[in-house]
Amino acid sequence: MTKYNSPVRVPFLDLRRQYAELEAAIDADVKEILSTGAYVMGKHNKGLEEEVARYHGVRHAIAVNSGTDALRIGLDALGIGAGDEVITVAFTFVATVEAIVQVGAKPVFVDIRREDQMIDPALIEAAITPNTKAIMPVHLWGQMADMAAINAIASKHNLLVIEDAAQAIGSTQGDKGAGNFSQVAGISFYVTKNLGAAGDGGMIVTNDDTVADTCRSMRIHGMGKERYYYDHIGYTSRLSELQAAILRHKLTQLDEWTAMRQAIAAKLIAGLEGSGVSLPVTRAGNNHTWHQFTILAPRRDELQAFLKEREIDSMIYYHAPYKHLAAEGSLPVTEQPSLEVLSLPVHQYLRDDEVAWVCESVKSFL
Ligand SMILES: *Cc1c(COP(=O)(O)O)cnc(C)c1O
Repeated sequence: MTKYNSPVRVPFLDLRRQYAELEAAIDADVKEILSTGAYVMGKHNKGLEEEVARYHGVRHAIAVNSGTDALRIGLDALGIGAGDEVITVAFTFVATVEAIVQVGAKPVFVDIRREDQMIDPALIEAAITPNTKAIMPVHLWGQMADMAAINAIASKHNLLVIEDAAQAIGSTQGDKGAGNFSQVAGISFYVTKNLGAAGDGGMIVTNDDTVADTCRSMRIHGMGKERYYYDHIGYTSRLSELQAAILRHKLTQLDEWTAMRQAIAAKLIAGLEGSGVSLPVTRAGNNHTWHQFTILAPRRDELQAFLKEREIDSMIYYHAPYKHLAAEGSLPVTEQPSLEVLSLPVHQYLRDDEVAWVCESVKSFL
């Protein structure tokens, strides 16, 4: 096949522009940190924790080394471990399930709703057993799972709730930010997330003082209030001051970046109307921050190859990596969208001509 002569190349992300916007401020902090030697547990960690707590309207934010660690330490701090079952989804990034398995608990999968690819609360009760300890919904693509329904089930059956809020920095439901609907939640600052570090990073958020204390201890080997006395078996999960400083600068831009993503998502939705693909659905009450713009497309793999030829990047999130752990045929919807999902570029710097080229290309394929 000859290479198509595209008018524009549409990248999935533009990290260099995030840095360029903030270059002078970031460079000054990086230089200061390197020259003073205050590399860990310093003022930028403290500042970022306060700022994220305020941003999400939660009492506590505890900086850690990744979103995965935020979830692992959160589960561990709640006392979830061997013999416990945690109800979650197979349609997610691998880390959700990794965190459950790594604390020694067993993931139990329920199916998702086709329209938003998140946990279907109507299926949760059937998965509850005497060993069920918690429900762990995943806030996917930048909007939140149906927390009213999930929490009603949790309180009826006396279960804990952990929000996988890795993709949900700034996302709200009603008037409350992610992290306010559970005992503990984990946010990710991985490079490609809406608030991304120059490497790995994460944040535990919680309104529970005891859980917060345990998490603070666990991130530094379980160290107690007294130095070098250890209360828990913990983790090595400090966030570098360099990452914290970079994240603080990016956080000042996040509302603006989110508004830009929302405007681009609206243009994509308008431009793809009638194209034959299923468009993303925003649930009532959710403020969607558009971490991903994920369509369901017939002949998905062919469409992806077609877009690639037109120099448009796209990604397949997710292949439901753990669906084999569920009984065959027990997750019919998970197995459906995982074959059809395609995430299109929705980063904040997309230009109108790029959005138009994406829409025109998808339309001309179908
Ligand atoms: C990114 C992500 C994680 C893990 O975060 P890391 O910072 O990469 O460890 C967990 N769950 C979901 C849904 C994610 O998207």
